[in-house]
Amino acid sequence: MLVNAKEMLLTARKEGYAVGQFNINNLEWTKAILETAQENNSPVILGVSAGAGKYMGGFKVVVGMVNGMLEAMNITVPVALHLDHGTYEQAIECMEAGFSSVMFDGSHYEIDENVSKTKEIIALAAKQDISVEAEVGSIGGEEDGVTGTGEVADAAECKLIADLGVDMLAAGIGNIHGQYPENWQGLSFDALAAIQGSTGGMPLVLHGGTGIPAEMVQKAISLGVSKVNVNTECQLTFTAATRIYFEEGKDKVGKGFDPRKVLAPGVVAIKETVKEKMEMFGSINKA
Ligand SMILES: [Zn+2]
Repeated sequence: MLVNAKEMLLTARKEGYAVGQFNINNLEWTKAILETAQENNSPVILGVSAGAGKYMGGFKVVVGMVNGMLEAMNITVPVALHLDHGTYEQAIECMEAGFSSVMFDGSHYEIDENVSKTKEIIALAAKQDISVEAEVGSIGGEEDGVTGTGEVADAAECKLIADLGVDMLAAGIGNIHGQYPENWQGLSFDALAAIQGSTGGMPLVLHGGTGIPAEMVQKAISLGVSKVNVNTECQLTFTAATRIYFEEGKDKVGKGFDPRKVLAPGVVAIKETVKEKMEMFGSINKA
């Protein structure tokens, strides 16, 4: 059964590790991540972007697939199904569809509107025991055409949103979505320490977990980051493994054209990436 992310993140925060959010794109991705979590006795958060939800046929399809897998695969570790960077409308749609956790990203609004909309989402979520992630100070990325340092959130604004009763808070500390540019300045630990100071024991979320050096991620975890989002890295390793399959001509041997065979090396690659991240975040055997 799906659980919300509240308890797993509070425990992680207290014990000094982080839970990985791994974004899913299809059945193979979902199965690979769930298998890895179960094999390593780790809690896990399945992230679903609006685009990925649409790709898979809608949020209800995602809920049906994930719930079916939890049962059929005998998954016993805590699993949260979480909307990634949702709008106000998408957050409501996911709550109705059966997600156990949602992110409402109001970071592009003025702080007052971000506060009022976040408040409404929290009230709706509370009725259904769904956890809520909010964001302050938008996180840069290739899609936004932002490169270099990324944005840094204001600690006082973080406190405003944290005090509304969100379960986890995403705040920019120089992190970026996608691949990091050569001239990236690294995470701002001063900003992170200030945000931690202003938000108390709030589990903080590090977006853009692909390509941040392990020591930086671990230092961020020691400063209150309890959830790290990973998306691009699984895409890169999946695609690299799939490319090798074709380059080696394996699709032309026997029944190598069978899609289940074509996708298999990519699945193995995702599992390796997810396991590496779980080791880095310290969540193994914490289920
Ligand atoms: Zn993000």
